Amino acid sequence: MAKHWAQPVTTALRADGLRVAELDTSSTPGYTGDKKKAQSLLAERSTVLSGLQERLFANGRSGDTRSVLLVLQGMDTAGKGGIVRHVIGSVDPQGVDHASFGVPTEEEKQHDFLWRIRKRLPAHGQIGVFDRSHYEDVLVVRVHDLVPRDVWEPRYDQINAFEREVADTGTTIVKVAMFVSLDEQKRRLRERLERPDKYWKFNPADIDERAHWTAYQEAYQAMLDRTNTDYAPWYVLPADHKWYSRLAVTELLIDALEGLKLDWPAASFDIEEQLRRLDQA
Ligand code: ADP
Repeated sequence: MAKHWAQPVTTALRADGLRVAELDTSSTPGYTGDKKKAQSLLAERSTVLSGLQERLFANGRSGDTRSVLLVLQGMDTAGKGGIVRHVIGSVDPQGVDHASFGVPTEEEKQHDFLWRIRKRLPAHGQIGVFDRSHYEDVLVVRVHDLVPRDVWEPRYDQINAFEREVADTGTTIVKVAMFVSLDEQKRRLRERLERPDKYWKFNPADIDERAHWTAYQEAYQAMLDRTNTDYAPWYVLPADHKWYSRLAVTELLIDALEGLKLDWPAASFDIEEQLRRLDQA
């Protein structure tokens, strides 16, 4: 068990049976330390994560076909960007493939909803990060009736089949749903309006979306109920405390990478011979 955790993060955050409407978004499941400790712990654990990621990358270069995919979902201001900067930002960028999914382009609209997703799956040895994902097609699309129900309804099963295929071909999938409270969201939106360094993050439409909070909660609940599988589990992250979110996702990634039991790839050359050659060079 990681230091300052009462239970493994995978147990503490696993979505099984969780009710979104009842979630305490300011809670810090499984973690026993305080904020200050979390910050030093994050630095320590980031180093562990970075070492594991380097092994994944090294193995990928040596023919190993495995990869990791982190799927981040959350409403506006939930902190997806912070996870990308502070957690993913701590590992070697050449081993990370970051993909964000916004409103589909005209070209994307001509294809099945998974078309653009498939194109961005991580290559061997990479950590792929989906900043929003195919789940938008059962979240924003459902809440705003962007397609009829008989189109989005079968998507849960289609997503499960897709993720099964992705997992079977060597990608460890870690899905994180981030939740802040309505109040915390208001505070974060206000901050975007009060600080010049945050104006760029503000989108007036984010205020309109607040009117759909309950519908979003229902859509998130359906997503968790219907796509939380053993091969692509959902973790529910209470995200009012950014320091907790970052530490928890770091631990989730460490867990996923440790599960791969990666050694350093063996040398593909005769070491003694190469040392001899080097001596003479
Ligand atoms: P973010 O809010 O993540 O920083 P953007 O400002 O680019 O990024 O917002 C992306 C927007 O695209 C979100 O409002 C999201 O709901 C929307 N979006 C993503 N995928 C889809 C989709 N498949 N259909 C409709 N809207 C989508």
